[in-house]
Amino acid sequence: MKFPAAEVCAACSRPKTACFCGQIVPVKNRLAVVILEHPQETHKWMNSASLAGQLFGDCTVRVGLSWRNLEAATGRPWRPSEWAVLVLKGEGGGGDRPVTVRTREHQIVDRPGEIRGIIALDGNWQQAKTLWWRNPWLLKCHTVELNPELASQRAQVKKAGLSTIEAVGFCLAHLENTPQILDATSELYRRWIVEPARAAHKAATVAQKLTDVDKPVEPV
Ligand SMILES: [Zn+2]
Repeated sequence: MKFPAAEVCAACSRPKTACFCGQIVPVKNRLAVVILEHPQETHKWMNSASLAGQLFGDCTVRVGLSWRNLEAATGRPWRPSEWAVLVLKGEGGGGDRPVTVRTREHQIVDRPGEIRGIIALDGNWQQAKTLWWRNPWLLKCHTVELNPELASQRAQVKKAGLSTIEAVGFCLAHLENTPQILDATSELYRRWIVEPARAAHKAATVAQKLTDVDKPVEPV
């Protein structure tokens, strides 16, 4: 859905009638969050990255395709092993842990105490692949595999898909042992994204039906 620029909030990229700026009470997160957002995602008003930016107290959203190194991307002088990049793995079950931190050599890190921040790539599967490819320094970081027990609130193409804000909330809740972060995330996501998306879809369907009714019948 496209809106004229004058009707869009410059801060959250949403139509001014659905802007959430100033209405979100931030939650405190111990681990820093950096979201690297593919430029094609940034003006989609149902994108959850800007909502994450306002919800999590320590969260930076950076829009771009490539950064010259980890420090340029995150704005912090931390070592690669102090960061974990979010990777979605599966649908839970099977005895798999909800989150698994791995080193760059794919070894499981049992006590991920060294991790100070997480990096999420925001975009569809293809866009995320591009971000990996354009930023090879990401490979030096740890990864954190997510294996959510619950499906996303939004219908996704991939069954195991989570929106960016859900993935970050899920990851923080497990790594920090703060289930309330996941509750706050789900509630906000439902209120500001899932429900408006449903309403917009319904309105579009009704409008389409009306248009169909108005169409003159072609003489046979
Ligand atoms: Zn706004």
